Amino acid sequence: MSLALALPPAPDGLESPRALARVRTTAWVETNLYCPQCGRHRLRPTPAGTPFRDFVCTGCQEPFELKASKDPHRTRVAGGSLRQYREAIERGAAPNLLLLTYDPGESRVRDLVAINRSLISPLAVIGRPAPLARTSRTPYYLCDLDLSGVPPSAQVPYLRAAHERPKRFVLDSWNRFRFLRDAPPADEPDWIRDLLALIARIPSREFTLDDLYEHTEELAQWHPHNHHIPAKIRQKLQVLVRRKILRRAAPGVFEPIY
Ligand SMILES: [Zn+2]
Repeated sequence: MSLALALPPAPDGLESPRALARVRTTAWVETNLYCPQCGRHRLRPTPAGTPFRDFVCTGCQEPFELKASKDPHRTRVAGGSLRQYREAIERGAAPNLLLLTYDPGESRVRDLVAINRSLISPLAVIGRPAPLARTSRTPYYLCDLDLSGVPPSAQVPYLRAAHERPKRFVLDSWNRFRFLRDAPPADEPDWIRDLLALIARIPSREFTLDDLYEHTEELAQWHPHNHHIPAKIRQKLQVLVRRKILRRAAPGVFEPIY
């Protein structure tokens, strides 16, 4: 299957360029895209305004949110309400993301990267400093997803500079993390997700246990019932080595396998 790059023509009656782009990119995804998880060629759009879901896969029911832009997506992606996004992550209801960039002049899709929600950690969700001006008494904060806290291997490209990646590559890359999605809560997939967020933020490829122990307090904030955080870090790193997500480069030194 080939992803056609041309956006469909503009419908009549819509004037705002933003609304127009939204309609065209949504139609493009519906017509062209297959699910990165199960490969089914049908992502069904949800009714307008459905929170955290622009599409649902008709095969595996995975939810997707489309973030379309004419400018390249930088390190931060708007996440909407801070409280609602964190709650959605907590409940396992946050969507996978489709980061699409289009070229408005040529009406073509240029880049498309899918972000695996199993790897979106609350540690990578950054609240904006000032609340939104509203009449309600409760302050309302917006947030961004900081992509530097999302492991590169959880960001799977369909298209780069209008070059399509093979479907096999997309599905295999995506399903490397299937074990997290399928893990029972007792296996603590949230711990692995949060450690991978910390590892993604380390600038060098190799890292040590101490690099992660430095974040004990931050981890304690998200895992308040765990009082043995260094032991938990070591235990989950072993899982990641066994799953071939990390390799042990030397005693106490690890690096991601891309
Ligand atoms: Zn699917």
